Amino acid sequence: MSKSQASQKEPSKKKIQAIRGMNDLLPGQSALWQYFEGQVQALMKRYGYDEIRTPVVEQTALFKRSIGEVTDIVEKEMYTFDDRNGDSLTLRPEGTASCVRAAMEHGLLHNQTQRLWYQGPMFRHERPQKGRYRQFHQVGVEAFGLEGPDIDAEMILLSARLWRELGLMEHVTLELNSLGSTEARAAYRERLVAYFEQHHEQLDEDSRRRLDSNPLRILDSKNPEMAAMLADAPKLMDHLDDDSREHFEALCAMLDAAGIDYVLNPRLVRGLDYYGRTVFEWTTTALGSQGTVCAGGRYDGLVEQLGGKATPAVGFAMGIERLILLLETLELVPDTARGELDLYVLPMDDAASRQALLLGERLRSELPGLRAQLHCGGGSFKSRIKKADRSGARLALLLGEDELANGTATLKFLREERDQQSLPQAGLATTLSRLLAQDIA
Ligand code: ATP
Ligand code: MG
Repeated sequence: MSKSQASQKEPSKKKIQAIRGMNDLLPGQSALWQYFEGQVQALMKRYGYDEIRTPVVEQTALFKRSIGEVTDIVEKEMYTFDDRNGDSLTLRPEGTASCVRAAMEHGLLHNQTQRLWYQGPMFRHERPQKGRYRQFHQVGVEAFGLEGPDIDAEMILLSARLWRELGLMEHVTLELNSLGSTEARAAYRERLVAYFEQHHEQLDEDSRRRLDSNPLRILDSKNPEMAAMLADAPKLMDHLDDDSREHFEALCAMLDAAGIDYVLNPRLVRGLDYYGRTVFEWTTTALGSQGTVCAGGRYDGLVEQLGGKATPAVGFAMGIERLILLLETLELVPDTARGELDLYVLPMDDAASRQALLLGERLRSELPGLRAQLHCGGGSFKSRIKKADRSGARLALLLGEDELANGTATLKFLREERDQQSLPQAGLATTLSRLLAQDIA
C-alpha cells in the first residue's frame, strides 16, 4: 500500500465543522426567530399577501439573466456547481428571480395581479462579518401587475408597520430614490461616465473596473476618498423622464399623507440590474456598516426580460439576521420571545411520576398558552429541585406522597421570594392563569 492510500483510509481526527459564514440557530435563539416570523406571517395576512415557497436551487441562467452578469452577486458571490447531469445550478442568492420564474411557470401572471411573500435561506459567498453571512435569511414581498405608485406606497407602509410593531420605528430611516425609465437611465449613464472620466484620477480600482460595466454602482461606493467627488456627480433625480417623475412625486405625496418620514438619497442605486423607477432602503446606524435591513424597488422590466409578457412589478427583501441583531442590540426582545418556561411539573419521587405526567397533560389542555415542562429521568430529591431551578421556569408544581394522598400540589416560586402554597389540584388551572396573567396570551 502506498503512503497516500494509507493516509486516505486513516479516519481524520479533525472535527467536522459548519461551513464558514453559515450559522446554526441554537435553542436559545429560536424563540426570537419564531417571534419575528410570527409577526411577519400575521402582517402578510393582514395585507392580503400569499406565501410562495420555491426551491433553494435554480438554474444558474435564471440569476445571470435577472440580477445581471456584471453585478457583484453574479460576478463573485454565487454558489454555482454542476449537478450530475452537467447542468449548471446555483443556490439562490436572492428571492425575486425565483418568485418571477415560479409565477411565470404556473401562469400566475395572466391577466391577474398577485401579491406574494416568501421567506427562507439565501446564499452568497461574501466575506463573513457581523450582519453579513454566506447563508442568510430573507423575508421578501413581491407584487405583480400593478403599475401605480399606490402599491409602492403600500409596500413601504407594510414594512413601516412591521418596524412599529417590533418597536424599531425610531431606529430606522427610509431612503428613497427613483432610477427612472430605461431610456432616462441610459442617457444619465452617459452623463455620469463623462463626469467620472473627468475625475478619473480620483476613482479607486473598483470604480475604474465598473466604469464600463456598471457605472451607476460607483455612486454606491463607501470609499471616503471618493465622497466629495461623488457628492458633486450629476443626479439621476434631475434627469428623470416625465412619467417616472410623476410616479415618484405621487409616491412621496402618499407617504407624506400617511405620515411616513423619508430621506431622498440620489445615490441609492441598488446592486441588482433589474430595478427601475422607485428604489428604497430602510437603514439603521445601530449595526455598524451592515446598516441596510430592508431594500427593494420596482422592476417593471424583469418579467419580460425572462420571457414573459410585460408585467409591472415591485418588491423588497429584508435581512432577518440583521433585524434579529437589531432587536437584540436595542434590547427590544419581548419576554414572550425569550422561550422561557412558565411551569416545571415535578414529581418528588418515582411513585409520583404518573400523576405528574397526567397533571401536566391536563394543565396544557386547560391552558393552551401554558409553557410547561415535565421532570423526566428520576434522580434524588436534591437533583430534582436543582433541575427545576435550572429550567428557568417561573413556577414549579411539586407532587409527592402527601400531595398524592390529599389531592393537592405544592406551588413553588422559582424566581421570587414567596412562600410556597399547597393548592387543591382541581383549581390549579385558575390559579396558574391568574399568576401568569401577563405571560399567557
Ligand atoms: P448590502 O449592501 O448590505 O450588501 P445588498 O444590497 O447586497 O446589501 P439585497 O440583495 O438588497 O442586499 O438584500 C436585501 C437585504 O438582505 C439586505 O438589505 C440585507 O438586510 C440582507 N442581506 C443581503 N446580503 C446579506 C448577507 N450576506 N448576510 C446577511 N444579510 C444580508
Ligand atoms: Mg451585497
